[in-house]
Order: sequence, then structure tokens, then C-alpha cells
Amino acid sequence: MVSKTYNLHDYVEMKKQHPCGTNRWQIIRVGMDIRIKCQGCGASILMPRRDFDKRLKKFYLSEYRQIPGDRYRLPGIFY
Ligand SMILES: [Zn+2]
Repeated sequence: MVSKTYNLHDYVEMKKQHPCGTNRWQIIRVGMDIRIKCQGCGASILMPRRDFDKRLKKFYLSEYRQIPGDRYRLPGIFY
């Protein structure tokens, strides 16, 4: 199971890639709904959080996140 500790600015990979051929998205809004932006063409998609959870395949931390006590994790590494 995918851990649901993603956060704003994290990058994600979805089960289904965007029609433009890219499967790399950045989370640009987190709330009741999640908005993700395609890193290939710049399109953004808004979806309910439960749908996002279902479609999420992987995520990796953005360079903006810091994990206290876990300094060895580097941005760009999938979890
Ligand atoms: Zn795209």
C-alpha cells in the first residue's frame, strides 16, 4: 500500500499517465480535493482526495520538504 503522507509540492506518479505521455505530476493543492500539475505539458487536474488516493502509484518528496530526524532522504527518491 502507498503511504498517504504526501504533501504540497511533492511529485507523484499515477497509475495512468497523462495523455501527453508524461507520468510525473506535482501536487499544487491539498485539501478536500487534490490538484496536480502535469510536469510534461503543464495541465492541471483537480480530483477528490479519495480518487487521488486510488489513482496514486508512487510519490516522492519535493525539495521543499524536510523530515526531522531523517536527513538522509534526498529529494527525488521514490517511496
Ligand atoms: Zn501532460
